[in-house]
Amino acid sequence: MNDVAPTPAATDRCPRCAGSFHCGMADAEPCACTTVVLDAATQAALRERYTGCLCLRCLKELCSAPDPSLRGC
Ligand SMILES: [Zn+2]
Repeated sequence: MNDVAPTPAATDRCPRCAGSFHCGMADAEPCACTTVVLDAATQAALRERYTGCLCLRCLKELCSAPDPSLRGC
């Protein structure tokens, strides 16, 4: 019933860079994105701008974004 794939495939597409990645939010192990800490304002801005998850690369990029409204850490 619970069909867990041993190797997560890159099933998701990042709405920011259009790159494929795998969101681990539904996995047993914590998603890699939990290692990137964004404050509430940044998360809200991302939710307004994008649907769904971003890839880890973009999240890390946003941590050092030149746009202050997107800089959360
Ligand atoms: Zn991305």
